[in-house]
Amino acid sequence: MTTPATDRLAIARAAYNDVPLYDPKRTPVKIDLTDNTNLWGVPPNAERAIRDFAHSTITRYPTLYGSELKRALAEHAGVTPDMIVTGCGSDDILDSAMRAFGNENDLVAATDPTFAMVPIFAKMNTLRSILVTELPQHDVDADALLATGAKLLYVCSPNNPTGALVARRTLEKLIDNAPGVLLVDEAYVEFAGVSNIDLLKRSNRVLLIRTMSKAFGLAGLRIGYAIGAPELVAEVEKSRGPYKVNALAEQVAITALRSDVQWVEEHIQLAIEVRDRLTIELLKLDLDPMPSSANFVCVPVKHCVAVGLAMREKGVGVRPFPNLPRVGDCLRISVGPWPMVDQCVKALAGAMKKVGKK
Ligand SMILES: *Cc1c(COP(=O)(O)O)cnc(C)c1O
Repeated sequence: MTTPATDRLAIARAAYNDVPLYDPKRTPVKIDLTDNTNLWGVPPNAERAIRDFAHSTITRYPTLYGSELKRALAEHAGVTPDMIVTGCGSDDILDSAMRAFGNENDLVAATDPTFAMVPIFAKMNTLRSILVTELPQHDVDADALLATGAKLLYVCSPNNPTGALVARRTLEKLIDNAPGVLLVDEAYVEFAGVSNIDLLKRSNRVLLIRTMSKAFGLAGLRIGYAIGAPELVAEVEKSRGPYKVNALAEQVAITALRSDVQWVEEHIQLAIEVRDRLTIELLKLDLDPMPSSANFVCVPVKHCVAVGLAMREKGVGVRPFPNLPRVGDCLRISVGPWPMVDQCVKALAGAMKKVGKK
């Protein structure tokens, strides 16, 4: 996933010397189970809103900070609009939060394994980052994270790429003892059947980071948000800057939140059913899939890169993670309509046989 920074301009920012472009090797493939988006499609009313979008609106700027979207998100989450900040994807929120709370060289500590963008965003904001290996049973090592003394702590629940949920007690411990800000990435929270919103009462230094890219099926429109104490989100909003959510995205997101929630919930249920069915099929292949609270399954598979390539030759894309801490070689498989996942299981069985014979 690294792009060597060769022949950089002498005037380029030195701190970016080893900042790679994000490259998860997502080449087109017939059945793409690599990015955990909603493979059932765009919610129906959102789709209609895209079709009916008034072209005249494109000539004008969107709202400064997405005020109407904030109201819709607040209603959806059961909080007040002043507790919401929106962004160009939750990546933008993460980036803005690091800028909002980190001074140069401050430390960001994240659990490991987790979302690969965290150290990259840290570097882009001239922060240092440290990865703290998770506990053997895949919960976050709260004591070790706190021992870093980092100004920003990052955990992801359910975690990408393992699918593991951070235990409630662990989150409480982090909240009660964090010296700075706790970022909880909840990109997959809709699939977990839990809510951490009430934890916001415990501290005004917790940011729950969410997205409409996964359960809501709107990844291409880039809509992320975070929920936290008004004084906390105000700082993120400041560092984010105006006009970050475009006019089409804002309108479609509002429509989805106001009239597609039932569709979204039905498809969350479908995703959970397929996830459980996939888990059973993986067990039948003598594999040991990790319990998942998200819309993907992480399964340890030896020689995962070679297996992933062999699956691609059969038209199925999954994401290999070689040598992950506490997990080893594994594949992360997004769930979608069963026929796609069924094809994936068949491709995996064939690929393991092929690679095993080498
Ligand atoms: C997909 C993902 C994101 C990025 O979401 P966007 O809102 O599309 O930027 C953030 N965090 C995690 C853990 C993810 O898996």
